[in-house]
Amino acid sequence: MSFRATVLTLYPEMFPGHLGVSLAGKALERGQWSIETVQIRDFAEDKHRTVDDTPAGGGAGMVLKPDVLARAIDRVSINDDRPRLLMSPRGRPLTQERVRDLAAGPGVVIVCGRFEGVDQRVIDARNLEEVSIGDYILSGGEPAALVLLDAVVRILPGVMGNELSGVHESFEGGLLEHPHYTRPQVFEGQEIPSVLTSGNHSAIAKWREAEARKLTAERRPDLLERDPKSGKRFSE
Ligand code: SAH
Repeated sequence: MSFRATVLTLYPEMFPGHLGVSLAGKALERGQWSIETVQIRDFAEDKHRTVDDTPAGGGAGMVLKPDVLARAIDRVSINDDRPRLLMSPRGRPLTQERVRDLAAGPGVVIVCGRFEGVDQRVIDARNLEEVSIGDYILSGGEPAALVLLDAVVRILPGVMGNELSGVHESFEGGLLEHPHYTRPQVFEGQEIPSVLTSGNHSAIAKWREAEARKLTAERRPDLLERDPKSGKRFSE
């Protein structure tokens, strides 16, 4: 069974978006994964097909109604063992570790929020796992869902041309990746580091590891304090 994504959204036309081209798009055509969208508005029952309402307690913006969203979720995900995710800046930040877990499973059901967010009661009642793609605010969950799916799809078996290229990558192994070079040998007076053209594979591996450590220490010292497998801090 291939990986199945179901996305609940007010803007189904945003999908598959960039996942319809390049390697992900070819894998989609080959049936190595699939995506279906569900228009949340189809589950509104009043004649104006209302999906949002003003926030209880006052304040700016609108809130997605719990009853409408619950009906949409129940339509797609009853007796379904796929995790139910809600894209949300309040969620646990997405990591490569979580991406790998998801890619190893049957698929995902993703709810895309809009407006100020989603009524808390449907998050609780339908056991939605909130997932964030970073500490900034988007106008909707759709680009976040596309980011998450991009990260998952590219590591599904057979999707990337070179299977190995998923192994040596930033975060795999808990480090940022070493720098890359390719021809020409001299670019604006700068040479490729000579070790990389030496043909000495163990020296190359050592150089790459040292560069990766140096870069990680400079840019993301927090990563050095985490277990590369779980992404958890050693002190946690
Ligand atoms: N008022 C909310 C933000 C709402 S943004 C708050 O302050 O927490 C509207 C929708 O965009 C959210 O419901 C969510 O689905 C999506 N979204 C915004 N930023 C996101 C992020 N960093 N990661 C994942 N989803 C995000």
